[in-house]
Amino acid sequence: MSLSRGDERKLHALSQGKCNLCSRSVFTCGTYVGENAHIIAFRINGPRGKNRNNTNIDSYENHILLCPFHHSEVDKNQEYFTEDYLLSIKRDHEALMSACTDTSLGRKNIVSFLNAYFRYSGFGRIPDMLGRSPRIFPVGIGSITDFFYLAMKDFPFVVPFRDIELHHLFYTLIQSFEELNCALRGSEHNTHFVSHNFWISPTGDNIILQENELSEDYCINLRSNLSYVVDRCYRSFNELGTYIRRNYPEVII
Ligand SMILES: [Zn+2]
Ligand SMILES: [Zn+2]
Repeated sequence: MSLSRGDERKLHALSQGKCNLCSRSVFTCGTYVGENAHIIAFRINGPRGKNRNNTNIDSYENHILLCPFHHSEVDKNQEYFTEDYLLSIKRDHEALMSACTDTSLGRKNIVSFLNAYFRYSGFGRIPDMLGRSPRIFPVGIGSITDFFYLAMKDFPFVVPFRDIELHHLFYTLIQSFEELNCALRGSEHNTHFVSHNFWISPTGDNIILQENELSEDYCINLRSNLSYVVDRCYRSFNELGTYIRRNYPEVII
């Protein structure tokens, strides 16, 4: 048995004819040198062969396109090139290939939007911004959501993103920070009064929880609600960052 013609075509198309490890073309000097390498070997005592559960050995899912050199490396070093590692190499390679060659206007607009957003929003400083939670937050934390709406004005028709996964991850981020903004600002806000629970510091750059003004029970409750919201912010930050690094490598975060 071997890979079906359909699966082989899929493997080659998604890898764009390049070794998934070194990105060299598998058609070189007029010769085809590509190899459809098994991730889980055909034989049970072959490379990674013991991992087979319900793996369909002769499927696209169980193959990775490699040059002859890397095929032999991958099969010699099965402790290093584990099943999970090979699958992640393949996923990253395929994502990078499609990212680099998608020159459609839609993608260009998304990239411009993302570059503008990451440049001005302070996205990269989110871990710092949340680092002193739940007692202290910088006033600038509002920029995470504010710059999203500004970028939407500067780049009309980009949002909703054509990339559904990106759209979902971005909205989760914005929702999480909106929730945090609400908790910090409350319903009323002017320069001195943030909410019943938070005040702006005398220097004007931090929002501080007024613990001594609040009862202990109330504080415990508030802190636990806040840390739930902050966790969501962290998670959405990590997930969006990971997705963009993997799928939009040309964007500077
Ligand atoms: Zn290679
Ligand atoms: Zn092999």
